[in-house]
Amino acid sequence: MSAGLIPADIFMEKRIFDPVVQNKSVSGKIVAGLERISEAFKVLLWEKAKALGLSPIQIQILIFTAYHTSDLCNVSHLAKEFNVTKPTISDAIRALFSKDLILKDFSSEDSRSYSIVLSEKGKTMVAATESFANPLYQQLESFEEGDLESLFHTISKLIFQLNRNGILSVQRTCYGCKFYSKAEASDYCNLLEKPLLNTDIRLDCPEFIIR
Ligand code: SF4
Repeated sequence: MSAGLIPADIFMEKRIFDPVVQNKSVSGKIVAGLERISEAFKVLLWEKAKALGLSPIQIQILIFTAYHTSDLCNVSHLAKEFNVTKPTISDAIRALFSKDLILKDFSSEDSRSYSIVLSEKGKTMVAATESFANPLYQQLESFEEGDLESLFHTISKLIFQLNRNGILSVQRTCYGCKFYSKAEASDYCNLLEKPLLNTDIRLDCPEFIIR
């Protein structure tokens, strides 16, 4: 149940962005806070995009491609990853291709589809763009370690729950991984064969396999 003064089911019927209602519920205020943080991401990404002559989704695709395996770097998966339509991704890929920032790899078994990989120019562009979220990181670095751990625990659970409820289509956290198990009170990775402390839980694990 919500930790606020209004029970969650009643709160959900209210206008969540009405400050009078919102201010009576910690959950309501957290939702408002998350919305503000999402604006910070948008602003930082737009600033970088404008400076480099790319769109925000083009930057997101480049950075994602730099750090994920080719089976995730195709139109279908990228559309799910960024919650946009396949035509939106196709347009962005066309623009990146015309700027020589990516290459298309048709070596998969399905000859109709392709993966994208970064060109040398694309790698240079990633180096210039991936710092866009650094101002947020720097702010977090000033927090106490215990506060950061508590915040991370809440965020990782929230992401998993949003995924289970169909709001976030993609997640690669331990909680949804087939190698994850709960051993007594602690979390455990059966691939790494070790207990997972709160801070060991991963949000984007290269070894993740969906349960
Ligand atoms: S393989 Fe990765 S995502 Fe899966 S439980 Fe282990 S650390 Fe977590």
